[in-house]
Amino acid sequence: MTVIEIDKLFQTPKAFAAKFESSELEFDDDGLTLKSAVEVAGEASLKNSEVRLLGTVTAEIEVACDRCLMGVPKSVCQAFDAAFIPVTQDVRHPSVELAAADLSVGIYEGNVFDLREFAREQLLLSLDTRALCRENCKGLCPTCGVDLNAEACTCEREEVDPRWAALAHIKSTINES
Ligand SMILES: [Zn+2]
Ligand SMILES: [Zn+2]
Repeated sequence: MTVIEIDKLFQTPKAFAAKFESSELEFDDDGLTLKSAVEVAGEASLKNSEVRLLGTVTAEIEVACDRCLMGVPKSVCQAFDAAFIPVTQDVRHPSVELAAADLSVGIYEGNVFDLREFAREQLLLSLDTRALCRENCKGLCPTCGVDLNAEACTCEREEVDPRWAALAHIKSTINES
């Protein structure tokens, strides 16, 4: 089952589960590589034409380290609580306006809800957090591009990250007093 048939949903939540092989989901330039199948599981319900999905998306993925671009393995277990309203509904309807203020409200069209696209979106949402290959990754030299974790280079580093500059300033202030 890779879709949810909306006319078979009721107010009482109904369990659903779907599994997609890594070849079934495409992430071209999104900065993530699938390392396992993607599983979506949860409960779906329907109330006043609003579909609600509650559950989790799980997968093993690999993302690029923010500093040195090395692949970093990551286990994703993204919980979701998402609501969807039919596309045909009058958008000026007050309850829809209310719903639109909530970012987790999406739109569905017709009678089938595609879990594949939903799983894809949820995985992209899980990328919110920064990824580092190690806590103290030194990153790439901005001048010559060398991986500073693996080797040193002779480039002069005059540009100091403003946050470090602020810290250095605080330190020197403390030393002076
Ligand atoms: Zn790194
Ligand atoms: Zn360098």
